[in-house]
Amino acid sequence: MKNRVAVFLLLASAAWAQSAPSAAEIDAIYPDIEALYIDLHRNPELSLQEQKTAAKMADGLRQLGFEVTSGVGGHGVVGVLRNGTGPTLMVRTDMDGLPVEEQTGLPYASRVKVKDASGAEVGVMHACGHDVHMAAWLGTARLLAKSKQSWRGTLVMIAQPAEEIVTGARAMIDAGLFTKFPRPDFALAIHDLADLPAGKAGYASGYMLANADSVDITIFGKGGHGAWPHTTIDPIVIAARTIVSLQTIVAREVDPINPAVITVGSTHGGTKHNIIPDQVHLQLTVRSFKDEVRKHLLSAIERVTRAEAAAAGAPTPPAVKVTPGVTATYNDPKLTMRLAGALRRNLGEANVVEVPPKMGSEDFSEFGRAGIPAVMLWVGAAEPAKVEAAKASGTPLPSLHSATFAPDRERTLRTAVMAETAAALELLGRSP
Ligand code: ZN
Ligand code: ZN
Repeated sequence: MKNRVAVFLLLASAAWAQSAPSAAEIDAIYPDIEALYIDLHRNPELSLQEQKTAAKMADGLRQLGFEVTSGVGGHGVVGVLRNGTGPTLMVRTDMDGLPVEEQTGLPYASRVKVKDASGAEVGVMHACGHDVHMAAWLGTARLLAKSKQSWRGTLVMIAQPAEEIVTGARAMIDAGLFTKFPRPDFALAIHDLADLPAGKAGYASGYMLANADSVDITIFGKGGHGAWPHTTIDPIVIAARTIVSLQTIVAREVDPINPAVITVGSTHGGTKHNIIPDQVHLQLTVRSFKDEVRKHLLSAIERVTRAEAAAAGAPTPPAVKVTPGVTATYNDPKLTMRLAGALRRNLGEANVVEVPPKMGSEDFSEFGRAGIPAVMLWVGAAEPAKVEAAKASGTPLPSLHSATFAPDRERTLRTAVMAETAAALELLGRSP
């Protein structure tokens, strides 16, 4: 009996051993991963301009024996590696940097400056850590390509452009990602997190990131002299009332257990102390998780805005223009718990944490919306000692998109590769 238990444990541990790369395997490729990271960090490209970055991703996959297609939905890259009968897994990295002038002072800081879409010169930085994602993604591709005996199925590695303007995922789907290439059974991605200690990975089951929409409102009045307000219809007063009334939508109309945000981030109207202008322009960001909450917020904004203008006797109803942004990122709960288990076995129980949902957004959501069970995992990027110091002092660490965001390089990269590879092997490493 005792022996039988021992044999069972041995077999079980042999099966688990296949689910992760060993420390030695990661050591062997780490110098290349770091060199690639530093190169990408020094040479960021803005959304829709990721030409050189995409070429590096495509070359990397080609050297590993993937069938590679470039130019999928802009600068998107798709690499396919077939390895017998089994599930199809898609692993996604994003590629774009941000119009931020880096101020980390690192020896490999970006000094890149380019012209943005409006022709203005801007600094460019990997301030969201997409360089971490790419380095880990190629590391994962390399480990999986090397260990084909420990998994079965089809691996589809995609490098997605234009995440920061949330159009790249949709563009790749529209270009045939799921029709011209093997349709995935699962989609996986990682994202670094600026306040999670490096060495840890995190997960959110269900909603992880929010729906995000923009609304532009123009309120029309009737301008005139500031000293004769009775001859005018003052759009500044209408705008002020509208801004206050908009606050009641989340506070009074949305079930308190459903997160929602309406922020008026910009208000512009008028030129001078004593002139009542003809119009005022407001710009809003609107965030939520559930579809029905999103729909309610957008229609309530229009209703409240029109009613305030009508109450003031505005000559023309306000113009309310909704620019749909991106849908909420929803992690398939069953798949999330399965991957969280794989992470715990490989990184250790203490290094895997549940991360509450955030009101930021990501277009990785598009793959889930297209019907693919999808999970995005968090990977810590903060130096652990700095996290402790930030907690003690109450001063938050630089967030993603900050000019001073600098991942704790080696720990972040190693954990990112380990987490991504362990998650991939969890899904491909057993018979379906
Ligand atoms: Zn970002
Ligand atoms: Zn990002």
